[in-house]
Amino acid sequence: MLALPDLPYAHDALDPIVSAQTLKIHHGKHHRAYVDKTNALARDTEVASAPLERIIQWAAPRRAADKAAAALFNNAAQAWNHEFYWQSLRPRGSTPPEGPLAALIASEFGSHDRFAQAYISAAVNHFGSGWAWLVIDGTALKIVTTSNADTPLVGGQAPLLVIDVWEHAYYLDHQERRAAYVTAVVNELLDWRFARRNFAQAIRRVDGEVGAAAAAVQ
Ligand code: FE
Repeated sequence: MLALPDLPYAHDALDPIVSAQTLKIHHGKHHRAYVDKTNALARDTEVASAPLERIIQWAAPRRAADKAAAALFNNAAQAWNHEFYWQSLRPRGSTPPEGPLAALIASEFGSHDRFAQAYISAAVNHFGSGWAWLVIDGTALKIVTTSNADTPLVGGQAPLLVIDVWEHAYYLDHQERRAAYVTAVVNELLDWRFARRNFAQAIRRVDGEVGAAAAAVQ
């Protein structure tokens, strides 16, 4: 049985960009529901006691032909995406990226400011519910968006950061102004220490190819 992971900070830690009321509902109701439904839907499958990532990888290729697998995938992926989202945010401001990740951002986007504009634009312009990600894809750094529960995990991309752009993430605090929420998150709340740890893991996973590419642009 999967448990709802604790938030890595207090409910009011991201206020006023993400209020305590939003976090209480988003974590305590939405995220909890995804975890509970994953447990219920996995119960009679061969992944009943598997870790969350394994459940996602098991359900993903079955979902097109199997409604139960599709429901399991949607809830498991949402559980995973939310846990990654809480970790992508950091109270009281963000330290800019450093080292090889900063070099790769400069190489791909021209500067950190241009990256931030591109990330904000992708998140704001994603149509409907979904997620805006910074990922490592092979040896490339990319901004991608996914709809509903979809997650770059199933495409073999390694996420570094994510922003939830479902309305439940921002509506209480910003109503329909997704741009206000996304701009504040990108400029003030992203946890680049978390991104750097994910980047280091991605480098190891592709046998140093990304590291070599990053080193080449320094
Ligand atoms: Fe959400």
